[in-house]
Amino acid sequence: KVKESGKNNCLLYSDTWENSSLERLKLQHDLKQALSKGEFVLHYQPQYNLCNGNMVGVEALIRWQHPERGLVPPNQFIPLAEESGMIVQIGDWVLQEACRQNKAWQDEGLTSIPVSVNLSIRQFLQQNLTDKVSQILKDTGLQAKYLDLEITESMTMDIERASRCLLELTSLGVNISMDDFGTGYSSFNYLKSLPIGRLKIDRSFVRDIEQEAGDAAIVAAIISMGHNLNLQVIAEGVENEAQMQFLKKHHCDEIQGYFWSPPVRGQQIAEMLQGVWKH
Ligand code: C2E
Ligand code: MG
Ligand code: MG
Ligand code: MG
Repeated sequence: KVKESGKNNCLLYSDTWENSSLERLKLQHDLKQALSKGEFVLHYQPQYNLCNGNMVGVEALIRWQHPERGLVPPNQFIPLAEESGMIVQIGDWVLQEACRQNKAWQDEGLTSIPVSVNLSIRQFLQQNLTDKVSQILKDTGLQAKYLDLEITESMTMDIERASRCLLELTSLGVNISMDDFGTGYSSFNYLKSLPIGRLKIDRSFVRDIEQEAGDAAIVAAIISMGHNLNLQVIAEGVENEAQMQFLKKHHCDEIQGYFWSPPVRGQQIAEMLQGVWKH
């Protein structure tokens, strides 16, 4: 019996494995054409100031409108794009599209707010990243201060390189945010020496803020450390009133999460900025 179930498990495992590697190949194949077919779309998630409830920024989040699979979330294709190197072209498109959209909102006469764009490690390692960003800002006519670039702690492992690269980028006038803060390889020394403007507290710490004393302590500590280093602090993944109240009590600057809004289409951001939607 044990043997039999062992065999079944093995079969099941190998089945799943084969399916998933075949799946990956199929996705990889489709991904190569997705860009030229115009299948990517950006959604935008609002970021709110906790004192006055104003929308103070949006994060651009990519989705893939697959002809058969529907809307594919980034976790299902960004890792594949990273592996194959396609992330560089996709990332260029994201930067271009986010800047274009932000300028379009401004041209509609809406309140000017920065758009945050997630950078992947491969993009960050490109020699010509600063030139690219600079060119995209020129082409779209967006002022640098309305672009925020999100990096992760893993990109700062080579501190010399990261420092050089971030100084170049910030000399353009763009802001740098440290995404998923607290989950990665972090050294407080880096925070002090890198030209970072904002910390994004990872949502894994926010989720159980009410139940887990440890998470609450970490969140409070990140906020106070961030402020002492003159950084803005935003919390990700805020899903309910209690989490928001905790963050407010601890003077977190901004929040982003389903509680106030999921990622939405660009048109909906325009309506929100027009004041059709209010908090
Ligand atoms: P991230 O940069 O940390 O983005 C935040 C993720 O949390 C988004 O997932 C967002 O939809 C989700 N989220 C927001 N509020 C809540 C909440 O209240 N509760 C929960 N449970 N989740 C919330 P999404 O859009 O699926 O993106 C996942 C990750 O994919 C992103 O994490 C980012 O690392 C990556 N990604 C997304 N767009 C891009 C892109 O254009 N380029 C690159 N390189 N990576 C991207
Ligand atoms: Mg992000
Ligand atoms: Mg994050
Ligand atoms: Mg991330």
